[in-house]
Amino acid sequence: MAYTVPKLKSFTPAALDKAAEKLLAVLKEEAQGVTSEADRKAFRDRWIGRKNGVLTEINDLWLKAAPKDAKREVGQRVNELRAAVMATVENARTGVTIAPAPAVAKVGAVLGSVSVSLDITLPGIRRPLGSEHPVIKTMHEIVSVFRNLGYSVEEGPVIETDYYNFEALNFPPNHPARDTQDTLFIARQESKPQRDRLLLRTHTSPVQIRTMEKMKPPVRIVIPGKVHRNDPPDASHSPMFHQVEGLAVDANITFCDLKGTLDHAMKALFGSSVKTSFRPSFFPFTEPSAEMMVSCFICGGSGKRGPEPCRPCKQTGWIEILGCGMVDPNVYGFVDYDPKKVSGFAFGMGADRIAILKYGVDDIQLFFIGDVRFLEQFG
Ligand SMILES: [Zn+2]
Repeated sequence: MAYTVPKLKSFTPAALDKAAEKLLAVLKEEAQGVTSEADRKAFRDRWIGRKNGVLTEINDLWLKAAPKDAKREVGQRVNELRAAVMATVENARTGVTIAPAPAVAKVGAVLGSVSVSLDITLPGIRRPLGSEHPVIKTMHEIVSVFRNLGYSVEEGPVIETDYYNFEALNFPPNHPARDTQDTLFIARQESKPQRDRLLLRTHTSPVQIRTMEKMKPPVRIVIPGKVHRNDPPDASHSPMFHQVEGLAVDANITFCDLKGTLDHAMKALFGSSVKTSFRPSFFPFTEPSAEMMVSCFICGGSGKRGPEPCRPCKQTGWIEILGCGMVDPNVYGFVDYDPKKVSGFAFGMGADRIAILKYGVDDIQLFFIGDVRFLEQFG
């Protein structure tokens, strides 16, 4: 017959222990019998129901009935029992039993008195994982090629001063070369001297100056980063894009080092069969300057894809990939390097453009509109 809370004849600790032990044994046994939601409710009402629940009964029959000098002892026992009852009732949840798997029995054993059946072999809920953005992925690839050559990574602010973006890179105020970089200026800077006025950097080159200011040669760095120019967005332009630049300064660095380094980097990026070619160019901060081309890795340099003309190389078999040159000695003057003792080269490439070529994307805007259907193709 079901357990009823007995009246206590004695309130000695030994008698209390015995009564508590019996009550806990019954509690455990009844918890094991809970197999359905109806059972669980009945179990809960029987033990913690306000009116005739077991907890109410031990409160009335044991605590209230206890003589004054035993109240403290009894109160403590009743509190302990209450905690045990509450925890057991709380845990007595019934699970829905689905196709029994061997694991189910194990879980039941581990949980002991708590009647739970849980199929841990069911698949969980998968959260969709993000993937690396194709432009960031491309930047990482470029950076890792140079890291393997011993270059370290440097970064700098996207909001720059006129001094670091232009002047220290040998673009004097009012020099026409500034017009080649349509610059976005920060408003209300007119009261400042020109060199302190803020702008969105148009290239990552200011980081070359900042690094040379704090570091003595030898310097070998790559600079990945975001840049801005006042270019209206279209399929091949974006007012925000990404560059990876590099700088190597040491004693006796020559144009041969520049060519060898970049030729190796292009083979590492686009495959060992690509060829490189240089033609003269102009940048204020390098002298001499060059543009480098790689043989088209899409058509293999033939200018054709089957009977079709190869569009990425405009049928020439070559793709312009980066600008480079020997650091102009004037630049060393801004960073306290001695142009008689050191020489070096610098190069810069557009990461977005390389990603476009690598992945055959026909519109740069696709990179930045955040359409998951586009981005998940690069996972
Ligand atoms: Zn081609």
